[in-house]
Amino acid sequence: ESNAQTAQLDASKLKISLTTAPRDPPAAGSEELKKMRTCTDHMVTARWTLEDGWEAPELKPYGPLSIMPTASVLHYATECFEGLKLYHGEDGKLRLFRVRRNCERLRRSAARISLPDFPAEQLEILIKKLCATDGPKWLPNKGGFLYLRPTFIGTDPGLGVQVPKEALLYVIIAVFPDWSDPRNLPAASAVNPDLSEKVTKAQGLKLLASKEDSIRAWPGGFGYAKLGANYGPSLVGQGEARARGYDQILWLFGNNGSVTEAGASNFFVVWKTKEGKQQLITAPLHDNLILEGVTRDSVLNITKERLSTSESAAKYNAESVEVIERKFTMQEILDAYTEGRLVEAFAAGTAYFVAPVGLIGWKEHELEIPLAEGKTGVYARIIRGWLSDIMYGNDNHEWGVLV
Ligand code: PMP
Repeated sequence: ESNAQTAQLDASKLKISLTTAPRDPPAAGSEELKKMRTCTDHMVTARWTLEDGWEAPELKPYGPLSIMPTASVLHYATECFEGLKLYHGEDGKLRLFRVRRNCERLRRSAARISLPDFPAEQLEILIKKLCATDGPKWLPNKGGFLYLRPTFIGTDPGLGVQVPKEALLYVIIAVFPDWSDPRNLPAASAVNPDLSEKVTKAQGLKLLASKEDSIRAWPGGFGYAKLGANYGPSLVGQGEARARGYDQILWLFGNNGSVTEAGASNFFVVWKTKEGKQQLITAPLHDNLILEGVTRDSVLNITKERLSTSESAAKYNAESVEVIERKFTMQEILDAYTEGRLVEAFAAGTAYFVAPVGLIGWKEHELEIPLAEGKTGVYARIIRGWLSDIMYGNDNHEWGVLV
């Protein structure tokens, strides 16, 4: 806990040392790009100690960190992170999307693992500065993006299990393939002759519902925080899904199979109720199982704003839809599917953006979700278009933040 006497994170103290060995960005579609190892020329770092608080942040050449083998993060998973993109707009300008929300979420994640607090707006300034430094060279093309990874780790070299007295906040920018384009999805592992015909043929994202012995998040846990500790243990399930021809796990919780999230994305379904009312539904935040996605919040808000009445929905050639956050179960999805009421499903998050789901595997069932022409449901397509227009500056909206 940083006391009031120690220094606060202050972006105005930024020390800048630019690289003397600039590198070339990897070519589009290259192997180097697919490996996702390449970061831009620079990074921002900011050190914190309990004694003195935040040191002056630095913008310096991208390169290895130096931490002790006893560092807290390596033993007790005192790590949290963020993921967001920098977009090169159609107007030639660079934008972030609702970046303040990522900075605030990092504060909430840090609090869960006893890392110190900082003002969100100071991190936002540092992020923008890094983007302004590396963006023009590394993101030369309109319609492209880079992926930012703000990271916060406990670096305390004391091996006791204790609240870290030293920490390091850093921001790097990775060159990242576009997973919202299905052609770039990492292929399901080795061609498996046992894959069912539905799995082989399905379009869109293919989700395999988690089994009861594998739980991503639980009440009182930390699913709501973006901690590294949430992701390492999910990789076994992820590997199993891949081996069975699926892309991601659809994480269920509890005896009734409550649907929570899809891989590292929030999950949405559009269905008609038995009474014929059209609803967009996603899991609620209140029991702390769900990561509060920036994309999730944007989908909910923009859909409420633009599609809640039939008059406004008509402008977009769509039926109006009621937007609902509540617990819902895999059985409810199956019932809607069986009764022909399931309209569409999609995953929403920074990496996959708004990705139509084409297949859900659950127990012995394989639910083929309707995908219209263009291989996406109507709502996923419309919402994706709206958000993308904001990210790339076609729609001049407050969510698009100039760098
Ligand atoms: N859920 C989880 C578990 C995630 O890791 C992410 C990615 N940050 C999301 C949802 C989507 O969040 P966002 O829209 O902010 O990328």
